[in-house]
Amino acid sequence: MELIRTIAEAHDLVEKIRLSGRLIGLVPTMGALHRGHLMLVDEIRDHVDVIIMSIFVNPLQFGPNEDFERYPRTLDSDVELAESVGVDYIFCPDVSEMYARNMKTRVVVSDLPDHLCGLSRPGHFDGVTTVVSKLFNILKPHVAIFGQKDVQQAIIIQKMVKDLSIDVKVLTLPIVREVDGLAMSSRNSYLSETDRLEAVKLFQSLNFAKQMIVTGEHDLSLIINAIKNFITTGNSAEIDYISLVDTETLEELTELKEGSSVLIAIAVKFGKTRLIDNLTVKIPVFEHVE
Ligand code: AMP
Repeated sequence: MELIRTIAEAHDLVEKIRLSGRLIGLVPTMGALHRGHLMLVDEIRDHVDVIIMSIFVNPLQFGPNEDFERYPRTLDSDVELAESVGVDYIFCPDVSEMYARNMKTRVVVSDLPDHLCGLSRPGHFDGVTTVVSKLFNILKPHVAIFGQKDVQQAIIIQKMVKDLSIDVKVLTLPIVREVDGLAMSSRNSYLSETDRLEAVKLFQSLNFAKQMIVTGEHDLSLIINAIKNFITTGNSAEIDYISLVDTETLEELTELKEGSSVLIAIAVKFGKTRLIDNLTVKIPVFEHVE
């Protein structure tokens, strides 16, 4: 496996791969790899001939009071893990290589970032779409894969690809979880022992809400309150959002329509650590007796 650190090297490499008729798969990450990242590699393998993983902690997608500085950077162990699952190349540029000091261009998708994480992280998704566009231009993948853990990100990137006619097939992977249900995340390493135990309530509360919905509960505020109480009882967890939204537009639902699907998305802070999770639930059709 080879490390590629400059855009010029990357351009030469992908030119050669493309000329040889092989298909390139891209797995974009910020490193601190865990099993979720490795499953992305597993999933893309059948679709392509060459796998490039990018590891880049992208300053553009962090707000001024967020964790850019302390985000875990573990390149040596990432290289070993990536190699063990068959990644062919790691693209790991410096910030100065990716962003010239006077960069003036941003790629912005409208509307979709105005919900969920976009509300508490203004500018975050503009940072994501800008870096992903750059990665697409630099690495020219035929296929790229994103995790549904960051469901809003995946939806926004799919929209960007469609709107800008980018010739990349976008795949998504269901959320990979720890044995107790906590969604895997590089940020889980920030959690104290007590918070780690409490964090399992995120997934449990989503399942609790699902149970309410499939057994006929239609009252949105009741469901949201039930999730909130489930998560915050007995600890200092702080809710950022609990939202039941349309699975495509991400707009807040005003009612649950039988036969449609609802995306339940949550973001919760344990101390300084903000975790997200989500679950899509199909709302059953009930027989209505007149
Ligand atoms: P990150 O390194 O956190 O930027 O994530 C890189 C990619 O891995 C994104 O597409 C994430 O959605 C995906 N990812 C991270 N954690 C998980 C997980 N637990 N399950 C599935 N995909 C994940």
